[in-house]
Amino acid sequence: MKNKILVTGGAGYIGTHTCIALHEAGYEVVVYDNLSNSSREAINRISTLIGQPIDFIEGDIRDANMLREVFAAHQFFGVIHFAGLKAVGESVAKPLLYYNNNVSGTITLLQVMAEYDVKNLVFSSSATVYGDPETLPIDEVSARSCTNPYGQSKLAVEHILEDLAVSDASWSLIPLRYFNPVGAHPSGQIGEDPNDIPNNLMPYISQVAVGKLEMLSIFGNDYPTVDGTGVRDFIHVTDLAQGHVAALNYLQQHASSKSGSDTASSVGFLPINLGTGKGTSVLDLVAAFTKVSKQPIPYQFAARRAGDIASCYASADKAKELLGWEAKLSITDMCQDTWRWQSMNPNGYK
Ligand code: NAD
Ligand code: UDP
Repeated sequence: MKNKILVTGGAGYIGTHTCIALHEAGYEVVVYDNLSNSSREAINRISTLIGQPIDFIEGDIRDANMLREVFAAHQFFGVIHFAGLKAVGESVAKPLLYYNNNVSGTITLLQVMAEYDVKNLVFSSSATVYGDPETLPIDEVSARSCTNPYGQSKLAVEHILEDLAVSDASWSLIPLRYFNPVGAHPSGQIGEDPNDIPNNLMPYISQVAVGKLEMLSIFGNDYPTVDGTGVRDFIHVTDLAQGHVAALNYLQQHASSKSGSDTASSVGFLPINLGTGKGTSVLDLVAAFTKVSKQPIPYQFAARRAGDIASCYASADKAKELLGWEAKLSITDMCQDTWRWQSMNPNGYK
């Protein structure tokens, strides 16, 4: 069985954790990343944690010739495609950058995959494709709609993957729709390293706890939720990483063979949620983090953030049924591991 995997964006937050999980599961990993939102130090730390150098190529997914060189040099079973830009606010300010990087970049990657007859892909999608959901928990057949260029770029790629699967039955394409990834590797060596002031809740809380930021603003306390603050499905990044291993294992069993003779058993387009199925409010997360870190986390209530929704949590049944995967780690685990990473690396990888 072929076990070599190209991991685009493998130097980033979710990619680094997934590289370790893939290595532990017996996969051979080649990382391809342009380091636009990550660092070589992250690659060094993966190598230290797995006890051997990781194969790393600095390159851009929009660079078809460079991708061709990589595909010519390796026999890949498939690709896990994390590479992308992810800041919602920046995407509103720079839509062309986001569509170019996330959509055109993915098209280039898919074209080169087709040239080399590598047709198995796991793609980083997002719960953002569900927009403001009509019903909770959100399952994979829920309506999709997005309001910002980042979300649109994810949805556009999903549509491209759907069309591709219809056009050619030998593709096996799994968009994993992540809910809210948080936490860090239990070693404290790898974690989320935002470039600037964090936009997301967990890194903001942890930077307040470590004293880098003064106060958390809680965006809205008048939502129709348990305590008026937003509710999200936080999922530990190492559980998420295991979800990628489970998706690849599924492809190993179900994707058509490379010869193309067995196309009837190909997976096609198979979107799967990766979440815990549980909602946690902003105030609950602040309380859990305060307990774990034993640090004060001052906060103030502020106006709702434009584009935010009240509640979002997954139905995780499909992942369990098809992939045999479910999230195992608790909110306390997520806070503990975030806090270990934050306190051991107050300036991230720098
Ligand atoms: P990240 O920014 O830490 O990792 C993305 C990596 O992709 C970075 O290392 C960056 O340098 C690289 N990259 C970006 N553009 C590239 C390009 N053109 N060519 C090569 N490399 C490129 O982000 P993350 O949190 O690890 O997210 C990984 C993926 O998951 C992204 O596609 C993101 O949109 C998606 N996602 C993330 C979240 C989240 O909350 N973190 C939620 C849902 C979906
Ligand atoms: N949030 C907040 N203060 C912050 C960042 C986020 O109150 O500084 C809230 C936000 O309004 C939402 C929840 O925390 O209700 C999760 O936000 P995040 O940006 O982490 O994830 P997303 O909105 O993408 O689900």
